[in-house]
Amino acid sequence: MIKQYFFIAMLSMIPAGIILYFLIQLGKGLLGMVSDRTLHKELDELAAHGEARRQAREALNQKRLDNGCTHEFDGALGGFPPDVCHKCGLARTKPNGPCDHVWRAGEGGAPNSRCEKCGRQYNPSKERGAYA
Ligand SMILES: [Zn+2]
Ligand SMILES: [Zn+2]
Repeated sequence: MIKQYFFIAMLSMIPAGIILYFLIQLGKGLLGMVSDRTLHKELDELAAHGEARRQAREALNQKRLDNGCTHEFDGALGGFPPDVCHKCGLARTKPNGPCDHVWRAGEGGAPNSRCEKCGRQYNPSKERGAYA
């Protein structure tokens, strides 16, 4: 008799185990969904931050370029680096280096230019746009 009860008990363990297994899977799925959502939220926030930073940088750049000059960023013709205004010498976007160069046409036969702030020289025939 006791053996039979034991057998029934064992049998009833199996569906309980299966149910438990599914519950665990379900729990894992829910946890995954929640952490996914937090991740997405964080990514969204990060993207928003990046966008805000980009806009701030752009606004700063606009202010920087607002010097009364009607820029013409085709300075390459006059021996200036590419994307530099040949009227005021400013680059369209702020250079990465420490100096926000102000290019001035240099002297000599070949077209070249020179930053009046840091003295950096740009010679299109020599450096082919390699400037910072
Ligand atoms: Zn200009
Ligand atoms: Zn400079």
